[in-house]
Amino acid sequence: MVVMKFGGSSVGDGTRIRNVAGIAGRFAEGEGTPAVVVSAMQGVTDALIRAAEAASRRDNGTLHRTIAELYARHEEAAAEVAPPEEREALLAEVHSLIRDFENLCAAVGVLGELTPRGLDAVASFGERLSARLLAAALRQEGYAARALEASDFIVTDAHHGAASPLWDHTRDRTRGAVLPLLAEGTIPVITGFIGATPEGVITTLGRGGSDFSASIVAASLDADEIWIWTDVDGVMTADPRIVPEARTLPELSYAEAAELSYFGARVIHPKTVLPAVERGIPIRIKNTFNPDGPSTLITSSPREGRSTVKAITAIKSLSLITVEGRGMIGVPGIAAKVFSAVAREGISVLMISQSSSEQNICFAIRGEETARALEALNTAFAPELAARNVDRIWAEDGVAIVAAVGKGMRRTPGIAAKLFGALGKAGINVISIAQGSSEHNISLVVSEGQVEDAVRAIHREFDLGREG
Ligand code: ADP
Ligand code: ASP
Ligand code: MG
Repeated sequence: MVVMKFGGSSVGDGTRIRNVAGIAGRFAEGEGTPAVVVSAMQGVTDALIRAAEAASRRDNGTLHRTIAELYARHEEAAAEVAPPEEREALLAEVHSLIRDFENLCAAVGVLGELTPRGLDAVASFGERLSARLLAAALRQEGYAARALEASDFIVTDAHHGAASPLWDHTRDRTRGAVLPLLAEGTIPVITGFIGATPEGVITTLGRGGSDFSASIVAASLDADEIWIWTDVDGVMTADPRIVPEARTLPELSYAEAAELSYFGARVIHPKTVLPAVERGIPIRIKNTFNPDGPSTLITSSPREGRSTVKAITAIKSLSLITVEGRGMIGVPGIAAKVFSAVAREGISVLMISQSSSEQNICFAIRGEETARALEALNTAFAPELAARNVDRIWAEDGVAIVAAVGKGMRRTPGIAAKLFGALGKAGINVISIAQGSSEHNISLVVSEGQVEDAVRAIHREFDLGREG
């Protein structure tokens, strides 16, 4: 049994939803009924959040404009995908959901604030709408299909905005909700991205989290494969929007896929890999706009390609924090103190580097967390700052990490030199460097304005666009 996930751009309008229904339907005829997981129509999650934020500021202009757009897009798609006899009912359902959303925005307006819990309720509407549209499109093509709300069976903790599944409950309930449909040949169309706490409060798994939903469902059902359908030909040697000559990587290991997604390859959400590894479920990444074209297969034992560096990724909007001071030399526990101070704030560190002189420690975090990190560090190091053992704690904003990823980099000499050479030739200054202890990646910090040039320069230097 296969779990298929379709991303936002693949269901971006009525025509695309019908295309996806064709893909899932033909698969059902040929290979057996898949369980389908679907994202919100492209841009809808952003629009929902924008509307609710406008409501919290009482910016009624933006609120009403955004809601009108939500009605228009979903009405248009519904009219296009629904079987004629279902058209009225589907439109009524779309209207009723968007009306619920309007009421929620009204409540946000009264309170004048949007809590993390409220934000998850807000963001859930996109998938709740798209799942109904795709199920209708499948019925229009003649396949039995039913929309399911994952909040009925993906049970999570209450970490709003980045919830984690509670596996025991999730497994039993997912099996209970989905297996009977599969057994009777009805295609379940499950909302991606969302779950609910044991008390039934809606949660979300994190932006881009529908991939994770697919792997949660697949692990719960002991699926044979997970197919992530997106808008590019699988995982490529770089983001094809940055590097036009990027090429599809036919096979990757779970570790490489995890590393790539962690360092910015949005094509697969970082949390997707773990449930699949644990149950040994292969993941395929395919293009809905080119279904018979190249694709990527992710397993524990990929066939090895020729290159040491497989792909170049980038993460933008970061900030590099530096703690420096001559008095830090040889003093044990400074690093521990730095990282426990940021960890207490719930800030995650993407990369760390310490100079061998021990005069400074620097690390990268998301830009929006800079102020909180500085405050926490200044508090934690108040005695050291007063005693001048730590001279300065400061942030450099507007930086990006560029990472070169690939298992073959392990024990291959000269990779770092080649990376620096490529950037030097392109006139790009490297602010900091770190190598992951797995030796599966080397990460460089560069200024955000130069990140795309850096990715292109490294891609060219390692000749990743060449067939091989
Ligand atoms: P979906 O809506 O299907 O979830 P996403 O937009 O989340 O799709 O992810 C697909 C996008 O990921 C592609 O359009 C591409 O621009 C981007 N991307 C970034 N890095 C890579 C990479 N190494 N290979 C393929 N796509 C990548
Ligand atoms: N719709 C959600 C988002 O935009 C989840 C996803 O697309 O995977 O983040
Ligand atoms: Mg995605």
